[in-house]
Amino acid sequence: MPDEVLNAAIDLVCTRISEHADELTKLDQAIGDGDHGINMKRGFDAVRANSEEITALPFGPALQKLGMTLVMSVGGASGPLYGSLFMAVGKARAEMPDTVAAAAEAFLAGVDAVKARGKSDVGAKTMLDVLVPAQQALAASDGDSIGVLRAAADRGLAETKDMRATKGRAAFLGERSIGHLDPGARSSALILHAICDVLEART
Ligand code: ADP
Ligand code: MG
Repeated sequence: MPDEVLNAAIDLVCTRISEHADELTKLDQAIGDGDHGINMKRGFDAVRANSEEITALPFGPALQKLGMTLVMSVGGASGPLYGSLFMAVGKARAEMPDTVAAAAEAFLAGVDAVKARGKSDVGAKTMLDVLVPAQQALAASDGDSIGVLRAAADRGLAETKDMRATKGRAAFLGERSIGHLDPGARSSALILHAICDVLEART
């Protein structure tokens, strides 16, 4: 895939996070400390500020730099977690993945890095409840891979509502975390849909 796809994807992810910052903050007010939108906006504003430098690099180094930018600019848990995700994808692929299988493999490296960084997995009411099923859907897809990825992300997000959080700040609420969507799951869904929008516009 040509570099304009990476540029466009980074640009749209930054825009979507900015547009939805208030929504992310409201979700985090319900089960966390109310800063997820602020954290994500700060991180992706920093990415946008560095975007010329980032997109001048090949795919792998670009994503590593993007991840490092998030780690350095976001105070909350989500900074190191998303930072790990993007850095691991960039480490796994020097060049833009050119097949669905290659994309799924790189995505898996990212998901595994989040699991390791967060000492977490699916079912704990976190971003992993979107990232893991989305990656698995992509890996298993034959045909409409973008459609199945979107659907899996949406399903994963919706399923966080009835979960009890066992990781992150929401875990302190115990049973009271039930009945709310997880903010990080929502931001992961926003990021994945933005990337899908760019890939779809290309074809
Ligand atoms: P903080 O929790 O430090 O205030 P944010 O509000 O920015 O940071 O991010 C909260 C989100 O981070 C949660 O909604 C959840 O999706 C994700 N998260 C928190 N802890 C973990 C973890 N251990 N593993 C995976 N994701 C996590
Ligand atoms: Mg928070």
